[in-house]
Amino acid sequence: MTHSFQNKIAVVTGASSGIGLGIAQELAALGATVIITGRDKNKLKSALSTLGPDASQFQVDVSSLSELDSFYKQILSRFGRIDILIANAGMGEFEPLGQITPEKFDRQFTTNVRGITFTVQKALPLMKPGSSIIITGSTASINPGQGLSVYGGTKAALRAMVRSWILDIKGAGVRINILSPGPVDTQSLHDFLPEPVDAILQSLRDRSPIGRIGQTEEIAKAVVFLASEDASYINGAEIFADGGASQI
Ligand code: NAD
Repeated sequence: MTHSFQNKIAVVTGASSGIGLGIAQELAALGATVIITGRDKNKLKSALSTLGPDASQFQVDVSSLSELDSFYKQILSRFGRIDILIANAGMGEFEPLGQITPEKFDRQFTTNVRGITFTVQKALPLMKPGSSIIITGSTASINPGQGLSVYGGTKAALRAMVRSWILDIKGAGVRINILSPGPVDTQSLHDFLPEPVDAILQSLRDRSPIGRIGQTEEIAKAVVFLASEDASYINGAEIFADGGASQI
């Protein structure tokens, strides 16, 4: 299936690396005018260099309401609208119940739940009927495994919230869906896993029904489908791109 996103304005948050960058690259390759956001100036600059001449970057921390306001104000004046919003910025920490601290708890909920909430809320006035929002979830929303209760809780919260949001915006013509990846080969996955990382990665491969870890391009292609007109009747869904990992 080939999609075209010519003349579409697409915002991808947390896109200076990993899955977000993969999604931005796929959308840019399909003709979208891509706007990436992230927190690190240097990483954003190097990500932008892979996206072609039409792309642009903004430094935005999704936990800051004032930074989100200023970002969307600039988008409105420079681009006039958003057709596709990929609310991808997120993070997770491995901590068994006994090691959860208020700081770790707040950091994950602030980024993954509060950050996504206001990224979506503040984008909606810029989105016309036919536009699409895709949030990056995780298989941890239904199957977090040991040590990922807080992270899994943030991703499960997103599912509940999206089911309510589609009712709140009924009639706006904007679809909101969640794309939940299983383990994907990114630097952050390696940083996130506790030691022994290689053994854990091997056990993820061994337990995976498809026998391997996913690649960022595979997530990007699923997101592109959800953003396209081919997914015009899919709304409020959580779609898993995980090689079947959510079933184990
Ligand atoms: P990543 O660290 O490469 O990407 C996350 C991006 O979000 C980074 O650019 C980071 O700087 C940004 N970010 C974090 N906090 C932010 C904040 N407060 N403001 C703005 N940007 C912020 O990791 P990734 O693996 O590509 O993760 C992307 C998304 O995919 C996350 O939501 C993550 O939970 C989800 N996910 C990843 C995997 C995996 O195996 N890699 C699996 C399931 C879900």
